Amino acid sequence: MKFRTLKYFLIIWTSCSSSYAQDNSQNLREAMVKEIEDMVMETREYIGKEKLDRRVIEAVRTVPRHEFVPDMYRPYAYLNRPLPIGEGQTISQPYIVALMSDLAEINKNSKVLEVGTGSGYQAAILGELVGHVYTIEIIDALAEKAQRVLFGLGYENITVRSGDGYNGWQEHAPFDAIIVTAAPEEVPTPLIEQLKPGGKLVIPVGPQSRTQYLRVLTKDRAGNVDVKEILPVGFVPLTRD
Ligand code: SAH
Repeated sequence: MKFRTLKYFLIIWTSCSSSYAQDNSQNLREAMVKEIEDMVMETREYIGKEKLDRRVIEAVRTVPRHEFVPDMYRPYAYLNRPLPIGEGQTISQPYIVALMSDLAEINKNSKVLEVGTGSGYQAAILGELVGHVYTIEIIDALAEKAQRVLFGLGYENITVRSGDGYNGWQEHAPFDAIIVTAAPEEVPTPLIEQLKPGGKLVIPVGPQSRTQYLRVLTKDRAGNVDVKEILPVGFVPLTRD
């Protein structure tokens, strides 16, 4: 009898503690969403809007960022900051992830390419928003880890490949949008070629030592490309094999 009481106590206690952990990460995500919304407001002159797409905000509210950072950084997972993910790379600042997802103007039917999988967090946000995400990471260990985390979270619409993303992913082209999360000095032409007419390429451009700018390139039906410079950013360099 005593044993049974203890067993029931343990069941109740463990279910309370796991729902506490869940609620807590939900609360932290909510606070992070608020910080992103404030930063969008502060940068409205650059980005030309006061609010991001409601669906992007909903995706940030949903994706458990703490699953994408190394254990030692979990306590900081819901700060609006980039964090180290190993191999000298970083998970981008949540504001930047949300902004790039918004600028890509995607919907649930879109097919999207990401260059620079890193932790897989940006891919997961895109996975919430579109039909399919193809993502390429040049560092094998990061590609494998990201694939494991994304699989564990049940993202069946994200395909991770390890390799150099400079040349895009020809087999799955053309894409409705391409998001690059590492900075080249010039926009790679293969990526422009792999955009659908009307598609958007969201990419930081510039040398490591100087200011880089986040650019949005839009390809029109005739194949002409319009370029908009959005705001100064700091990304790791796009490296080559
Ligand atoms: N989107 C990531 C941010 C990762 S940082 C996230 O949400 O966590 C940028 C990543 O781009 C790094 O992991 C780096 O290894 C990768 N990278 C750099 N050059 C690359 C290239 N040519 N092809 C594919 N990935 C590249």
